[in-house]
Amino acid sequence: MTEEKGLNFIEDIVEEDLRNGKYTQIVTRFPPEPNGYLHIGHASSICLNFGLTEKYGGYTNLRFDDTNPVTEETEYVDSIKEDVKWLGFQWKHELYASDYFEALYQFAIDLIKKGLAYVDDSSSEEIAALKGTPTEPGRNSPYRDRTVQENLDLFESMKKGAFKDGSKTLRAKIDMAHINMLMRDPVLYRIKHAHHHRTGNEWCIYPMYDFAHGQSDSIENVTHSLCTLEFVPHRELYDWLIEKLEIFPSKQYEFARRNLTYTITSKRKLLQLVNENHVDGWDDPRMTTISGMRRRGFTPESIRDFCTRIGIAKRENLVDMSLLEYCVREHLNKIAIRRMAVLDPVKLIITNYPAGQTEEVFSENNPEAENNGGTRPVVFSGELWIEREDFMETPAKKWFRLAPGALVRLKSAYIVKCDDFIKDDEGNITAIQCSYIPESKSGNDVSGIRAKGTIHWVSVAHAAEAEVRLYDRLFTVENPAAEEGDFTSYINPNSLQIVKKAYIETALKDAVEGEKFQFIRKGYFTPDTHSAPGKLVFNRTVTLKDTWAKESKK
Ligand code: ATP
Ligand code: MG
Repeated sequence: MTEEKGLNFIEDIVEEDLRNGKYTQIVTRFPPEPNGYLHIGHASSICLNFGLTEKYGGYTNLRFDDTNPVTEETEYVDSIKEDVKWLGFQWKHELYASDYFEALYQFAIDLIKKGLAYVDDSSSEEIAALKGTPTEPGRNSPYRDRTVQENLDLFESMKKGAFKDGSKTLRAKIDMAHINMLMRDPVLYRIKHAHHHRTGNEWCIYPMYDFAHGQSDSIENVTHSLCTLEFVPHRELYDWLIEKLEIFPSKQYEFARRNLTYTITSKRKLLQLVNENHVDGWDDPRMTTISGMRRRGFTPESIRDFCTRIGIAKRENLVDMSLLEYCVREHLNKIAIRRMAVLDPVKLIITNYPAGQTEEVFSENNPEAENNGGTRPVVFSGELWIEREDFMETPAKKWFRLAPGALVRLKSAYIVKCDDFIKDDEGNITAIQCSYIPESKSGNDVSGIRAKGTIHWVSVAHAAEAEVRLYDRLFTVENPAAEEGDFTSYINPNSLQIVKKAYIETALKDAVEGEKFQFIRKGYFTPDTHSAPGKLVFNRTVTLKDTWAKESKK
C-alpha cells in the first residue's frame, strides 16, 4: 500500500518517455493466453495497462496470445472479453497473435536471409544436451552452419508440412556461450500438426513465445509492453530480435505478479479445481476469477479500487484477501439496498397485537446512499420470523437482544418485551412470546422507553422464501500453492454453507441478477446467476465485518 501515493515506477518511465519526446503517444496491450478464465491477478494487469493509457492518453489493445494451438478455446476468448468489459475498460483493437502468423513467418525469413537463423534437425533432447549450464558454455549444433539457401528451402518445407512434429526447429543464431541461457540459439519455430482455434489447419509450424510476443508488440506499435517478472531474462532476446529485424522499438518492462492470500492465481490450478469438481465451474462464487467474483456480487468499482490500492511492485508478495473484501464492503455500503431477511428463523408472537391485523411500517432503503435512498413499506403483523441467534434463554453479560423479560426494538417498527418462550420435547425453542408497546412505533415513538438493541424481522404471512448461500474462503491456508503436497488438500470443507429456506421480505421477491443488497445485520447479498422468480437464490458477497480479523486475534 506504500505505492498508493505518487507515481508507480512504470508511470515514472512513461512520464520520462513522454517528456523526452521518445513517444508522442502511449500504446499498451493486455495479452492473455486464451487457456482459461481471468483471475484477480489479471485484473491487476488490466488495471495497469488500461489505467496507463487512460491517464496519459493513447490506447490499449486486447491481444489474444494464441500461438499455442493446443490449449486455446473460443469459450475462453469470449469470457475474457466479457470480463475486461465488465471491469470497465474498452480496448482499441481486438487482436490475435495468430493474425500475425504470416507476418512472423516473413520475419523469420528475414532473419534467415541475414544469416541470423537456421533450421536445426536436432531433437529437443539433443538441443538440451548442447545447451550448457549457467556456469558452462553450450556447444554449437551440427546444423548451425547451413547455408542461407538451404535454410530457406528447409524452412519452407517445414511450413508446407514435409516434416513430422519435433523433427526440426528454426533457431536464432546468436551465441552458444552467452551468459544468458535464453540467448543460446533459442528456438523460434517448432513443428506441430495441430488444429488451431482460428487458423484451423493452415499452419503446422508455430512460433515460440519469444518470437511472437515482442514481434506482435512491434507490429502494433506498442510502446510499453508490461509483463510479469519471470520474463526479465527474456528481455535481452526481446530487444535482440527487434533490433535485428529493424522493426518498431517496443520496450518490455516487468512488474511483480499479484497473489492473494487464501486463494489461487494460476489458470492451470484454477482449471484443476474445475475439472476435479472442487468448485461449481469457473464462475463458482468462491473462485477469485473475475467471473466468480462477479457472480458473488463484487463490483467492478471495488476490484479496480483494490488494484489501485495495491499498486504495482517490483518484488512478489502476498496481498491480504481482507483488503479486497474491505474494498468490496466500502463500495457496497454506498450502493447496496437495505432489506430484511431471516436466515435461521424462529417465530416471534406478539400476544397483544390484534389478531389478523397488519400495518405498513417504513424502513430506509439506504441511509448511506448519496442522494438519500428513501424508504419502502414493509408489512408488520403479530407473527414474525426473527433470527434464532437473537434470543438467549439465559442472557450473557451485555446482551442487548431478546431474553426473558428483555426489551428490544424491531427494526423500523415497535419495541417488544419478551414475556415467555415455548420449547418442544427436545428442548428446542419453537416460539417466543412478546408484548409490544403501541406508543413506541419508529418515527413516532412517544413511549419514553428505550431499547438498547434492534433486531430485524419479517412477517410470517408476508415472507417469501429463498435459498441463501454463505461462502467462506476456499482454502484454509494463506498460500495453498506454496504448501506441501497437492494444493487441493487445503480446500476449506466449510467454504459453502447452504441455507435451504430463508425468509425474506416481500420487496426482495423480484430481485434480479446484478442487484446488490444488504440484508440488515447479515451481510451483503446478490441474486445468483441461477436465481429465478419463485426459486430465489442469494449469494452472500461478504459479511458486514471482517470475521477473519477477529479469528486471528483469538
Ligand atoms: P496463469 O499462470 O494464471 O496462466 P499467465 O501469466 O500465464 O497466468 P496470461 O494469460 O499469459 O496468464 O496473462 C496475461 C497477462 O496477465 C500477462 O501480461 C501476465 O503477465 C498478466 N498476469 C497474469 N497473472 C498475473 C498476476 N497474478 N498478477 C499480475 N499480472 C498477471
Ligand atoms: Mg501463460
